[in-house]
Amino acid sequence: GMKQRLLVVANRLPVSANRRGEDQWSLEISAGGLVSALLGVKDVDAKWIGWAGVNVPDEVGQRALTRALAEKRCIPVFLDEEIVHQYYNGYCNNILWPLFHYLGLPQEDRLATTRNFESQFNAYKRANQMFADVVYQHYQEGDVIWCHDYHLMFMPKCLKDHDINMKVGWFLHTPFPSSEIYRTLPSRSELLRSVLCADLVGFHTYDYARHFVSACTRILGLEGTHEGVEDQGRLTRVAAFPIGIDSERFKRALELTAVKRHINELTHRFAGRKVMLGVDRLDMIKGIPQKILAFEKFLEENPDWNDKVVLLQIAVPTRTDVPEYQKLTSQVHEIVGRINGRFGTLTAVPIHHLDRSLDFHALCALYAVTDVALVTSLRDGMNLVSYEYVACQGSRKGVLILSEFAGAAQSLGAGAILVNPWNITEVADSIRHALTMSSDEREKRHRHNYPHVTTHTAQDWAETFVCELNETVAEAQLRT
Ligand code: UDP
Repeated sequence: GMKQRLLVVANRLPVSANRRGEDQWSLEISAGGLVSALLGVKDVDAKWIGWAGVNVPDEVGQRALTRALAEKRCIPVFLDEEIVHQYYNGYCNNILWPLFHYLGLPQEDRLATTRNFESQFNAYKRANQMFADVVYQHYQEGDVIWCHDYHLMFMPKCLKDHDINMKVGWFLHTPFPSSEIYRTLPSRSELLRSVLCADLVGFHTYDYARHFVSACTRILGLEGTHEGVEDQGRLTRVAAFPIGIDSERFKRALELTAVKRHINELTHRFAGRKVMLGVDRLDMIKGIPQKILAFEKFLEENPDWNDKVVLLQIAVPTRTDVPEYQKLTSQVHEIVGRINGRFGTLTAVPIHHLDRSLDFHALCALYAVTDVALVTSLRDGMNLVSYEYVACQGSRKGVLILSEFAGAAQSLGAGAILVNPWNITEVADSIRHALTMSSDEREKRHRHNYPHVTTHTAQDWAETFVCELNETVAEAQLRT
């Protein structure tokens, strides 16, 4: 039969586009888990709608990019620089991102944010309307429309105002904060009301879903049920859909000759030492300074380990034009420098800190050779690094130390050592526990997490969401 069509709407298309001439574009698909998940949903014909991440002011360029993207099943939304500044940098990244991760703004930014709030929120709504306009152009009856993340909270309303029969789902990839935090947002009601226009609203964890329902009951006075939120007889279904990874992709990579060679090199290089790994975007939410301070405490308290352990920290640069992120970078460099100066020898240092990203194969090799992974997020929607580490530990059975503030703690808690990243005494003790753990215990912990990571895949996640959305709409039609 005819496959159902799925329109995936996200702020960014999963491609990077580079202009090569007036009407020439080169495209590189980013091969993340989300991409393969959404393109791999069974019996569904998926297309992406989103911003290509580049400013294309001229029509020739826009037409050429649209044509090139069509081959990759992508449809662009063109945003000019001013709207990107106000909607993306402003409302999304300076307002919603910190709020949803319980981060306070620096005092000097706080008033500026308050002052700019209204114009940024207006730009946000306008941008969401621009995404919705592109959806209208491509929509056919029966299509499923799946909106992603905090960038597009105003879309469900735009879509339903246009055509009440559209099947609309919205999924949040970040935490949804406690209603006590959320209620400080000046646009709190308007955003909630828009999200509630969706048929299905999804979060990574049950806690985030509950926070959302509480916000709706406390701020809007609506009724929360175990199914979702009710407003005058109409139900918006709210549920948890924990995302996963494409674990097969990691397992396949570990079989490649080049990756195996890389694994051998690394094993040789760090022979005689235990290796701990951190892989994070260099973001405030990742708790990188806290992680490094905990490692310093461990070194202080365990001098016998000083030349027997090394921490490899991959810190992927992000938002490098923002002063607060620049400050975090130099703060981390300072701490790393101090610790290496303090505990290093002529031939070795305890921390290898890299301000860069790695390619997929190098990352897989690191995941496979390291004895301990250290995830200390202060808040993190899910944290896929922890899943990826487990997926690559089939033979070594390394230990995952995982922040209880990452969504992943809900699913990997049984096999990981859970920590409060703010408590560096506890993290330092956990490092010691992980490094000295018996192989029996490592095996046992691995047996909890490995099956979880390999069975709860990204593809299952996407299929479950789409299926639930179809069912929710069908049930609602039965009721009316
Ligand atoms: N990653 C990458 N290159 C790197 C380091 C990390 O592609 O050099 C990927 C990693 O494999 C993971 C993602 O970046 O899939 C990070 O996802 P996570 O959920 O852990 O955190 P986020 O960055 O989305 O907050």
